[in-house]
Amino acid sequence: MPVVIDRARSRDRIAHDVLTLTEPQYTSSSTAICRYAYTPEYRRTADYFAARLRELGFEVWEDAVGNLVGQNVPRGERVYGLGSHCDSNRNGGPWDGPLGVAVALEVCRLSGEHGLDLPLRVISFLEEEGSGFGQMLLGSRIAAGRITDEELRDGLRAIDDGRPFVEHAREAGYRPQEWRSCSETLDDLDGWIETHIEQGRVLQDEGTTLGIVEAIAGYVHADVHLDGRAGHAGATPMIGRADALATAAEIILEAERLAVQAGHATVATVGELDVEPGLINVVPGAVRLSLDTRGVREDAFRGVASALESFAQEAARRRGVAARYVQRTAVAPTPMDAGILAALQESADAAGITHRRMASGAAHDTMCVAGRAPSAMVFVPCRDGISHAPEEDSDPADAALAAEVVLNALVRLRATAPS
Ligand SMILES: [Zn+2]
Repeated sequence: MPVVIDRARSRDRIAHDVLTLTEPQYTSSSTAICRYAYTPEYRRTADYFAARLRELGFEVWEDAVGNLVGQNVPRGERVYGLGSHCDSNRNGGPWDGPLGVAVALEVCRLSGEHGLDLPLRVISFLEEEGSGFGQMLLGSRIAAGRITDEELRDGLRAIDDGRPFVEHAREAGYRPQEWRSCSETLDDLDGWIETHIEQGRVLQDEGTTLGIVEAIAGYVHADVHLDGRAGHAGATPMIGRADALATAAEIILEAERLAVQAGHATVATVGELDVEPGLINVVPGAVRLSLDTRGVREDAFRGVASALESFAQEAARRRGVAARYVQRTAVAPTPMDAGILAALQESADAAGITHRRMASGAAHDTMCVAGRAPSAMVFVPCRDGISHAPEEDSDPADAALAAEVVLNALVRLRATAPS
């Protein structure tokens, strides 16, 4: 029998948690949510969740860099993990991140109130958005060991003052030199579920309540550098120009075409464009454009990247321009765990909550957790798909349904787990 919860009460508690964190002491901006690792606003936000977990009898601690962990059974025992992050984008809204921590907290409350005694760990990962130090998923990457000593020591500097990450971490009372011990944050997990706003508008437009994420997209990030020949816009005839920007225009349209052709919801975006000299009366001599191509089918998005590289060479050659393609990073897609997906789906069905399987185009901490534990994500609709903006909005009633589904999924998983 599924656990039946008081949905209105859960809605109100989640709304209270998320909206409390929009108060002035939790954000450094009066027009947006702004809180980054090791700032006073971030400290107060983590303290807020820590206090709520302690009220429930959880032991709460922070690992060597500041990932927040709360647990209701002794350390070393097997647990189910829930959580997300509570830092924000530089021009953030209330829901991206805190919604997932608030849902995790609500599941902890419900487990206690319904006498379920689920062994639970809540994690709020540090610096998911990369707003303080410019690198996304920082806390979860450190916990997963997906970083090097050099990167941590030399590669990471605060966007605001340029000082090293390790200095900021030490000043905030942490032990960044012991970052390898953060792997314990992901020990003993029998499963992991992160709830998050969708950041797209599929659920809203379809009228579906929850998204059950079956994979998180991988991606290729690259740059194309084009070297042509600058010249006077009036005195240089059209024949024989080597216009780097006109070449870039062809490449941008081809990226769009290749992504559509690749199918499997593959996407490609050129979001950065540097033009030199960038003057109205000069033929552009040099251009750099970025490429972001993603999807859950690795052959598809990698195919877009390699076809675009060939196209760039060919288009540049035709125009007398030199092209250089440089890959920045490539990350494989992260499939979610079939057993947890099934438990989530069965729980939603049993409660009569509409849901659909979907992919996450955005990156999440769960990508890092998935290497250590069977993992899944639940998406809650957000109004008009808006995120990373003060207008970001989500209905806490949907978040309460997510808490109900996650709770029941854990009950199912525990009932079928080998003891
Ligand atoms: Zn997020």
